[in-house]
Amino acid sequence: MKMLTATSRTQGQRNNDFDWCIEGELVHFGLICAADRDNPDGHCGCGRSFAGLNSHRATTTALVRDLEGFTRDDYIEAIRSSLSQQGWDPGTAEDEADELISMAAEWPVGAVAERRLNRVVVRMVMIPPNG
Ligand SMILES: [Zn+2]
Repeated sequence: MKMLTATSRTQGQRNNDFDWCIEGELVHFGLICAADRDNPDGHCGCGRSFAGLNSHRATTTALVRDLEGFTRDDYIEAIRSSLSQQGWDPGTAEDEADELISMAAEWPVGAVAERRLNRVVVRMVMIPPNG
């Protein structure tokens, strides 16, 4: 199954890129705080970043990888436990997983995605993707 994972690839393409995540970890959409609500290039950075499920840190770049054997249930569980660990309501895990799955399904492996508030677009497709 294709999924969005943290990557350092294409970092620096925007001058406000950052990547504090672990390379390859699963990411989801963190909440956007009041300060950056209307500005993806805001000072906080949450409006342009994905949140790492393991590191609980953020990155502005996410790579579509195909993780063989990984299921929708695995995805839901990964999101649920990450939310719980951070003290968030894990009740959104299933919806988040479905949103991420349908998003990644439309893109080729090797696509690097970026976030602009509630929009996610492909920035570049890396060929070959190298896992
Ligand atoms: Zn913020």
